[in-house]
Amino acid sequence: MRLEAEARRLDAGDPGHRELFLVPPAEGGDYPETAYLAGNSLGLQPRAVRGELLQELDAWARLGVEGHLEAERPWLPYHELLREPAARLVGALPAETVVMNSLTVNLHLLMVSFYRPEGARTLIVVEDTAFPSDSYAVRSQAAFHGLDPDETVVRTNDPLAAIREHGDRVALVLLGGVNYLTGELMDIPGITAAGHSAGAVVGWDLAHAAGNVPLRLHEWGVDFAAWCSYKYLNSGPGAVAGAFVHERHAGGDRPRFEGWWSTEAATRFEMAPVSRPPRSADAWQVSNPPILAMSPVRTSLELFDTIGMPALRARSERLTAYLQSLLDPIGVEVVTPRDPARRGCQLSLRVADAGGLSKSLRHRHGVIADSREPDIVRLAPVPLYSTYHDCWRAAAAIAHEVGGIMGSVWKACGRSEAEGA
Ligand SMILES: *Cc1c(COP(=O)(O)O)cnc(C)c1O
Repeated sequence: MRLEAEARRLDAGDPGHRELFLVPPAEGGDYPETAYLAGNSLGLQPRAVRGELLQELDAWARLGVEGHLEAERPWLPYHELLREPAARLVGALPAETVVMNSLTVNLHLLMVSFYRPEGARTLIVVEDTAFPSDSYAVRSQAAFHGLDPDETVVRTNDPLAAIREHGDRVALVLLGGVNYLTGELMDIPGITAAGHSAGAVVGWDLAHAAGNVPLRLHEWGVDFAAWCSYKYLNSGPGAVAGAFVHERHAGGDRPRFEGWWSTEAATRFEMAPVSRPPRSADAWQVSNPPILAMSPVRTSLELFDTIGMPALRARSERLTAYLQSLLDPIGVEVVTPRDPARRGCQLSLRVADAGGLSKSLRHRHGVIADSREPDIVRLAPVPLYSTYHDCWRAAAAIAHEVGGIMGSVWKACGRSEAEGA
């Protein structure tokens, strides 16, 4: 029997950091705020973002171009402020990370360097359920090299087997660290090592991993990685993304696409015809960074830095286990691995009408989940701001909408106790 009062008790003992965020009002149901379980799609706005963004607007108003050097946080070296917190977030050395562009753009810039098909070694291994953008990106990279994407991109649900099978024909392994659809956390160190044994380059898309699970990219020897900042990193729609290049590739002779931000900062205004790239991930930058978009990333990374991934991961495991324990008795199918070591905070449910269910959850219950057609609904209790009560509301709403007989029993138990509490 699962009870609303129990959720409230758990929240009192394990409160998280909801007060630092703006939670949207509910459109339906019995509570003023939404139970927001879509932080895997777009994280909520930290309260501190508005003030810090206004500071940059004020600096621009007050200083104009002089803000590059004289703003409280000068714009010229602004991206350097983000380097260390981003590095700590993904387990990298500071020189291995850079915040720039958007995710798919970064994947392309990195593949320019790290996808170098040669002779029979041309294949790109991706997961069967690759996010469409990643799929289009690798296919277009194959085509860019004059290869047939259908013959070059290998889609698999068993990357280790695919690496074994194709061996020295694999040029690049590019996988999601946490799969966007199923929420499965991949064995990043194991697959990276297997790819390297086959002589391939191994890159990771960490869109659903950064800020969700602990990462040690440097130690794992990952060649390159990229992630977005608007999902678990709460930096706003379309926020500036991150990139990682292992230090062993710094200053190497792989080709890169360059611009004036690819050269050593001290040489940037020499306006010399030939760049002198730094021996760091900064060499992959192209343009001067969008300060108004970087500001929320800085604010958000500071939160992660202050609270720390170990504490967030621990609370994440507790919240997600709790949500799973509420869903089990409803009898709804959870496709995400049960083992906490093989998942982040997201649970993906297989249901008959995913779109219909997520609409009902929102409009009838004030629960924000999201759906991936045709049959997956994703629920992500985010350790920074989600609560046990959010999980309880989601489970109660799902029981109400799809639970059938089990759901009615479940709901009756929760309801009567809640009314008595
Ligand atoms: C969210 C997501 C993207 C989005 O790409 P953008 O370039 O940020 O628009 C790409 N790949 C994966 C795996 C994602 O989860």
